[in-house]
Amino acid sequence: MSSDRIKIVWIYPDLLSTYGDQGNTIVLERRSALRGIPTETLHLRSDEPVPTDGDIYLLGGGEDRPQILAAQRLRGDGGLQRAAQRGAVIFAVCAGFQIIGHEFGGEEGQLLPGLGILDIRSGRGQQRAVGEVVGDVSAELNIPRITGFENHMGATSIGPGAKPLAKVVAGTGNGDGNGFEGAYSGRVVGTYMHGPALVRNPALADLLLTWAVGAQLQPIDDSWAGRLREERLNAVLA
Ligand code: GLN
Repeated sequence: MSSDRIKIVWIYPDLLSTYGDQGNTIVLERRSALRGIPTETLHLRSDEPVPTDGDIYLLGGGEDRPQILAAQRLRGDGGLQRAAQRGAVIFAVCAGFQIIGHEFGGEEGQLLPGLGILDIRSGRGQQRAVGEVVGDVSAELNIPRITGFENHMGATSIGPGAKPLAKVVAGTGNGDGNGFEGAYSGRVVGTYMHGPALVRNPALADLLLTWAVGAQLQPIDDSWAGRLREERLNAVLA
């Protein structure tokens, strides 16, 4: 954390904000406030420069064309790559996940360059993956199974520089035939889970906050989030 507050940068809400992914910013703000840690959130439009002093950068999902435009603008800007090199926390969902990789498939399947922050490659899959996803998270991250909603054509494979975020229990996830959902490396995490992901997975939200703060967080009452998780998990796994 660079100052007395966590600086959250919500990347391009004008292009990347489907399925309520903005809820991820609200969850981080709220869970941080409950611990007495102030936050400052910048809703960064795509015609503005990306600040490099953020603590947590959030990218959401998007339709194919806004996704292509967002990738072009982020590549031209270069600020997000510089923030990643500095060790900033990045949490990217669906289109955002694809954009932070080396390449992704455009609306006609053409391969387009991403930011190369995470060692993943995406292309167009055979069919659209739509529905609930559940995954058992990599033991190293020590958080409970994650739950979310996916809607993507893209299929993503993970290179040697990144690890799978989770093993798929239900749904499609990355869709490259290896049974994984999402990917991570250091403090950069990508997932196909909307929901918004951090509403359904408070332990994942706390993991990002812990990385940003550099210290363990006090426990808080998670009974509401727990009920939502239970309802969704029961609906999918019953
Ligand atoms: N356009 C991308 C795809 O279909 C991402 C979709 C999304 O963000 N929900 O794969």
